[in-house]
Amino acid sequence: MANSKDSVVIIGAGQAGGECAKNLRRDGFEGPIILVGDEAHLPYERPPLSKNIMSGAADLSSCYLWTPSTAQELDIDFRQEVTVTAIDRNRHLVQLAGGAEIPYHKLVLATGGRVRKLPLEGADHDKIYYLRSIADSLALQKELAIGKKLVVIGGGWIGLEVAATARQKGLEVTVLEAESRLCARAVPPEVSEFLARLHRENGVDVELDAAVEGFPQTPGGGLQVSLQDGRTFEADFIVVGIGLVPNIDLAVQAGLETNNGIVTTAEGRTSDPDIYAIGDIAHYKNRHLGRDLRLESWANAQAMAVACSKDITGQQALQDECPWFWSDQYDVNIQLLGVPEHWSAPVVRGNDQTNSYSLFYLKDDQVEAAITFNAARDMAVAKRFIQRRTSVSRTDLVDEGLRLQSLLKKK
Ligand code: FAD
Ligand code: NAP
Repeated sequence: MANSKDSVVIIGAGQAGGECAKNLRRDGFEGPIILVGDEAHLPYERPPLSKNIMSGAADLSSCYLWTPSTAQELDIDFRQEVTVTAIDRNRHLVQLAGGAEIPYHKLVLATGGRVRKLPLEGADHDKIYYLRSIADSLALQKELAIGKKLVVIGGGWIGLEVAATARQKGLEVTVLEAESRLCARAVPPEVSEFLARLHRENGVDVELDAAVEGFPQTPGGGLQVSLQDGRTFEADFIVVGIGLVPNIDLAVQAGLETNNGIVTTAEGRTSDPDIYAIGDIAHYKNRHLGRDLRLESWANAQAMAVACSKDITGQQALQDECPWFWSDQYDVNIQLLGVPEHWSAPVVRGNDQTNSYSLFYLKDDQVEAAITFNAARDMAVAKRFIQRRTSVSRTDLVDEGLRLQSLLKKK
């Protein structure tokens, strides 16, 4: 626990960093808070970048976590467009690009991740885009003109959300996914099938088992993608979404324990008692699932920021929720509770040939995971089923004449 005169330095002014700084004040921390971020923005959340910001339907204010006066109101020393280059654990300070140093009593790493780059010749073409930041989203927004050809490499979350946004703006879209199904690491096969159907019904050419080989020169100077099986696809521009590399270089260089991320507790404590790591970079034992994992999600960044602040201020931090994610594609809101593992075949509530139904995954007579499509109410109940360990029957779950809430009251 930090003392009242101690200082907390937070590296990374993204979602986890921005929320942690705010929460420290709300939790009564009175000492100096210094938030160092290398971007030219107030702390912001990224989900709108592939959705309403990219399409132009919303402006940047919709993704900022802070107002311009937040730093002053909460007495937070926000150093914008400043990069931390090293952590000196012996001297308890961080070094900044340019040579300045900031001492800390407690240090929070919230450095998120960077896009994984395609390791192919020609992938540095100026019409090949990636998406992680506001700048990336605004650059893509400028490309969204009716009739343009977009090829998306990677059928994960970025790829599918970009495809949906571009298709809704009238572009011709092809998605190339190297695996035999979409979003293979994040969702079970039945959801991959749903996603493929959804995109195909909306006119996207979804190509699976599509291993990209390169970007051959065309006689007219246009952009082209070639696959290892010989097929080629023309494009006006390309978006690559093939995953995230966690920014753990500072931690590695400082000798913190790492393993596919920085090894932490659920509150973000690292192997150094004065250093925390939260958000996309943290690899910890999820108390609900009972296993180690690194989550790349809005809800995880939020929950860890809250828990870390509580831990620093000496309060009990309960970070034991079942992981939850969402995605918006076309007019479908998809919510996922749980992380795919050896789940049983799902119980389907509603018609799975439509865009509105729910899947419940049972272990014995309890729900261990749920996925809903335009059924946010079912998700809200599923969260309570899991929290309360409610016993449910398959027959009741599929019975649409029965309100799901009523099952919460059953003994
Ligand atoms: P970030 O938000 O990435 O913040 C890290 C910050 O640290 C960045 O500003 C970075 O520039 C800065 N930084 C890094 N190194 C340094 C340094 N050395 N010095 C100073 N600053 C540094 N999740 C969902 O659950 N649902 C969604 O619908 C969803 N949509 C998404 C859409 C997009 C386009 C993207 C990119 C992500 C989306 N996510 C979504 C994931 C979610 O946004 C991330 O999990 C979340 O942003 C992680 O927060 P973070 O604070 O750990 O990292
Ligand atoms: P991702 O979800 O990990 O998906 C990347 C996809 O690209 C995977 O399906 C991957 O397959 C595939 N792939 C990898 N290499 C490929 C190649 N050479 N050619 C074709 N496909 C390839 O990562 P992302 O979509 O890039 O997203 C980046 C980050 O943003 C993640 O943290 C993600 O969680 C976050 N994000 C989240 C949301 C959301 O939750 N709604 C929305 C947007 C972004 P393999 O699995 O086989 O590697």
